[in-house]
Amino acid sequence: MAYKKVILIKPGEIALKGLNKKKFEAILKSNLKKAIAPYGEFKVEESQSVFIVQAISAEADIETAYSKAKNVFGISKLSLAYVCEKAVEEIKNCSIAVLQEYGRFKTFKVEAKRADKTFKPDSMTLCPTIGDHVLNTFPKAVADMHNPEVRIGIEIREPGAYIYLNEEFGLGGMPVGCCQTANVLLSGGIDSPVAAFMMAKRGMNISCTHFTSPPYTSELAKDKVKKLVKILENYCGKIKFRCVELTKIQETIKKLCPEELFTILLRRMMFRIAQNISKLNGESAIITGESLGQVASQTMEAITCTDEVCFMPVFRPLIGMDKTEIIERAKKIETFDISILPYEDCCTVFVPKHPKTNPEVKAIKRAEEKLYGIILDAETGEVLPEAYKMEECL
Ligand code: ATP
Ligand code: MG
Repeated sequence: MAYKKVILIKPGEIALKGLNKKKFEAILKSNLKKAIAPYGEFKVEESQSVFIVQAISAEADIETAYSKAKNVFGISKLSLAYVCEKAVEEIKNCSIAVLQEYGRFKTFKVEAKRADKTFKPDSMTLCPTIGDHVLNTFPKAVADMHNPEVRIGIEIREPGAYIYLNEEFGLGGMPVGCCQTANVLLSGGIDSPVAAFMMAKRGMNISCTHFTSPPYTSELAKDKVKKLVKILENYCGKIKFRCVELTKIQETIKKLCPEELFTILLRRMMFRIAQNISKLNGESAIITGESLGQVASQTMEAITCTDEVCFMPVFRPLIGMDKTEIIERAKKIETFDISILPYEDCCTVFVPKHPKTNPEVKAIKRAEEKLYGIILDAETGEVLPEAYKMEECL
């Protein structure tokens, strides 16, 4: 007999959010629906704090929907389950069908849960009953309570019994949209996409700003960043992405300011522009991929100098991570292979030979006086609008 396959989704942390729980569950449901919508028509229902996703059109691809659901933040565990009637004989047959689909296996364990406590027998009795049936059907199989190759999960809930193998961990975190929107300063490098992922995982909506410096940086470099945005969209949903041309700003700083302060002066410009864009778009924080001491512009003193122009919170989720740890994450989220493509970045144009690692705000401000009226407004301290060009890219 053919059993219907559904996706069982167990939300994680949002269960602990008291009065906000319902609101966050609605956000998770909506994110989930959007993530699987390209693969057919699905219905997402909630039953005792578990989401059950089922296909409602013949061409709906539940297997692909399952693999996409794994990218949605706010899910602690998920499985692709067969549904059957809540009756012991049915559960026995269905367990065998799931194992037959899996193929060869050596060791197994049965784990049962009753969300529906009216169902008899209880889990303690159901597990050995199903276990014996598996041993009778597959005489070479061995029960292993500690490290089984397949864990047969049985859940008795409304409206049926759900049987699956090897429930998987989701990404955890909070559903994207539980927090406000933040603007990620997205370079083409390894770090900033990981930073975007980490903050989206805490429920932030993400938009991205990429700085370019044509003709010193190429269209290819920009395309690479667009590809990174596309990958991030697998986790974050639709992302607003804009590119900002900094050529005039870079050339002016290079011409008028001390070489050793170039990078820090440029970064203050980047933060000012990013905040301005955020303010216009209702975004409330900046995210960067900075990690303490990684390069000259990421020392405590340098970060103090960049933060001096910030009126919004700046989130730096990688601040305490080593490069090796960041690379590991970048590989997991599949941005690494794109990030290592060898295109230039505006931060690598005009880099000083000996950048100052311990800049002081006073000296930086003095250097900026030279930029007044050319790229900086002396009154407001903002970057003059004619100093840069912004375009919406996706
Ligand atoms: P990444 O690997 O993310 O490029 P990095 O180690 O190269 O980081 P920096 O070049 O100093 O370090 O940049 C630090 C942070 O500043 C980046 O993580 C990113 O958030 C931001 N940034 C740098 N270059 C750009 C750019 N061209 N556009 C937007 N943001 C940038
Ligand atoms: Mg970079």
